[in-house]
Amino acid sequence: KAELKTVSEGKLVMSTNAEFPPYEYHDADGIVGIDVDICTAIAEKLGLELEIEDIAFDAIIPEVVSGKADIGAAGMTVTEDRKKNVDFSDTYAKATQVIILKEDSTVTGPDDLKGKVIGVQQGTTGDIYVTDDFGEDSVERYAKGMEAVQALSQSKVDAVIIDGETAKQYLKQVEGLKILDESYTDEEYAIAVQKGNTAMVEAINGALAELKAEGKLDEIVAKYIKA
Ligand code: GLN
Repeated sequence: KAELKTVSEGKLVMSTNAEFPPYEYHDADGIVGIDVDICTAIAEKLGLELEIEDIAFDAIIPEVVSGKADIGAAGMTVTEDRKKNVDFSDTYAKATQVIILKEDSTVTGPDDLKGKVIGVQQGTTGDIYVTDDFGEDSVERYAKGMEAVQALSQSKVDAVIIDGETAKQYLKQVEGLKILDESYTDEEYAIAVQKGNTAMVEAINGALAELKAEGKLDEIVAKYIKA
């Protein structure tokens, strides 16, 4: 098997934004989460050591494009637009964007959000789709998803649109909020790789397929998402 070329010999450099529980976040042990465990397992299978670069979410694709990182793994949704700049691995998780509201909000679905101010995390699919659907004036962008949730709790915005599993984690930390049952979008997460680097995509897909077959992927998810 030919040696896989990486940006730093013996290492698999992963760009992420560790503000996104349960996929990547800081705890007493450092940066942990589903993506961290998956990419650690992938690196192991490839005989590499995982190195994590914690940067702003909207800096991840540029780092992959410029070849500073081998992979971008950050609960990143596959979109047609992003595919113009990077290649994606096979998807490894299904996701949604959900609507978070104050408990006493009368909003019952996406249609009720017209004319409201919606908090999002800058550069995420929540940001992109809310801007498309409701216009620039309806969006309030925050560097971190948690900041958007706090703004909602202080009534600075009327709603927050963010990834479903992350929303659940944030709501464990902030009181008086609810998540609408009807989700805003359905999405899928994958690992971003430099465009045209087929060797890397194939190596990652091979490792992912093995992790799925071994039940390891489910095990990792179950460790962070309690049913
Ligand atoms: N899934 C969303 C996206 O890809 C958010 C990811 C994140 O904030 N880490 O835009």
